Amino acid sequence: MVAAGGELRLRSAVFDETWDPGRPLRAACGRGHAAPDPACACGVYAVCAPADAVRYLVGRDDPGVLHRVLGQVALWGVTVEGERGWRAERARPLRLLTPTGRTNAAPVDAAAIASALALAYAVPVELISESEPPALVSRFS
Ligand SMILES: [Zn+2]
Repeated sequence: MVAAGGELRLRSAVFDETWDPGRPLRAACGRGHAAPDPACACGVYAVCAPADAVRYLVGRDDPGVLHRVLGQVALWGVTVEGERGWRAERARPLRLLTPTGRTNAAPVDAAAIASALALAYAVPVELISESEPPALVSRFS
């Protein structure tokens, strides 16, 4: 998640794509075809098993990244099923889980972030302990 224009915005854990509140995230591909394409790697990714999502709490920590959160999403449009999940044409968040701390130990006001995300994206946002991955995973069940 990043700050954009003074507001908190969800951003891909891998790409620089930000997720604007109130409208679906739409996949795009730099190769110029409709996304997702079965022969490409493009699309909005989602994993099937919650345990597979936990690893995204660790990763790139660019200066603009304020925190890392997990979410449950709705996917629709063209969807390509993979071994561990899906790549979809469109997605929207259904709920978000905000860890109380960061895996890189950087200071974070998780409660303020959770409140701001709930207001911006109009979805339930829960605070979770990042030190208890099994508890975190059970929240998705
Ligand atoms: Zn593509």
